[in-house]
Amino acid sequence: MRRCRRRWSRRCSRRCPRSGGSTSRKTSRTPRKSLGGMMKVGFIGLGNMGGPMAANLVKAGHEVVGFDLAAPMPEGVAKAATAAEAAAGAEVVITMLPNGAILRAVGAEAIPAMAPGAVLCDCSTVDVESARAVADQAAAAGLGALDAPVSGGVGGATAGTLTFMVGGSDAAFATVQPLFEIMGQKAVHCGASGAGQAAKICNNMILGVTMIATCEAFALADKLGLDRQKMFDVVSTSSGYSWTMNAYCPAPGVGPTTPADNGYKPGFAAELMLKDLRLSQQAAEAADADTPMGQLAAALYTDFVESEGGKGMDFSAMLPRFEKRHRG
Ligand code: NAD
Repeated sequence: MRRCRRRWSRRCSRRCPRSGGSTSRKTSRTPRKSLGGMMKVGFIGLGNMGGPMAANLVKAGHEVVGFDLAAPMPEGVAKAATAAEAAAGAEVVITMLPNGAILRAVGAEAIPAMAPGAVLCDCSTVDVESARAVADQAAAAGLGALDAPVSGGVGGATAGTLTFMVGGSDAAFATVQPLFEIMGQKAVHCGASGAGQAAKICNNMILGVTMIATCEAFALADKLGLDRQKMFDVVSTSSGYSWTMNAYCPAPGVGPTTPADNGYKPGFAAELMLKDLRLSQQAAEAADADTPMGQLAAALYTDFVESEGGKGMDFSAMLPRFEKRHRG
């Protein structure tokens, strides 16, 4: 019997015996009925995030069939030859892909292979329009659909402590909730299709803007001769406090241990922050929303990633960038 580490559910699949390797594949379009709460899950996109998420589902006893163009399958995940093969017969198909265009292409392949009643759950960070388009396509095929992007990074994916922000119907959310409970510590049902992606890009727009504000304030403090530790001690307990100052301090040797203490190795890469800021500006454009700070943050991260050597560095490496610069 495996030890339960479930934090927020009365039901606990970890009490159930494992399904014994689960390498069999079912190619019919009939979703297989769960035995003892175990589900058959198709998983498409098993990279840095999807790999450990799928591994956690296997450890909890679910049968997982995976498909990825390049990444290896984690132990216990059966390898499918195509996205359609991974999707066929699954009760839930999870996608964890780089962007909206790839999600649309994978959706077009997987959706026709899925049986009516199954749920397509996309956990990638993509534009709201792609999320809604794929959900509409799934609904037309008689499927449930969720957009469920995550916060928590590779560490959270590995530890099973992600936060899911979810858009879609109550019924689809209820179907996938036992899987969210394994892969994460919290799932917030934000509303209809697209609401999860909306929450994700709004959150990350705040994150990008506050990281820049924190870094430029440190650089100004340096030039004013203020000791960085004193700066942290004051701001982290004053009205300028924020997650980027208190939990992810961009100054090495100050505050908690962060990527700044590891040569700014990600962490959360600057190019992923840029991706999310661009998504926020794409959404703001479509919704006619005025987001000047988000727009400026996107421009600064564009320069940083594309012409200032920031690619491959943590997004908090904005601090050494500001240190080197002068006014005007
Ligand atoms: P990744 O590049 O490591 O993984 C993506 C995987 O998708 C790769 O293994 C790739 O081979 C596979 N893939 C691409 N096209 C495919 C196709 N047509 N069919 C099947 N597989 C295909 O990226 P990641 O870091 O795992 O991120 C995945 C998503 O999660 C992204 O949308 C990202 O923005 C989001 N995200 C990432 C983090 C993070 O810290 N890495 C945090 C939160 C959210």
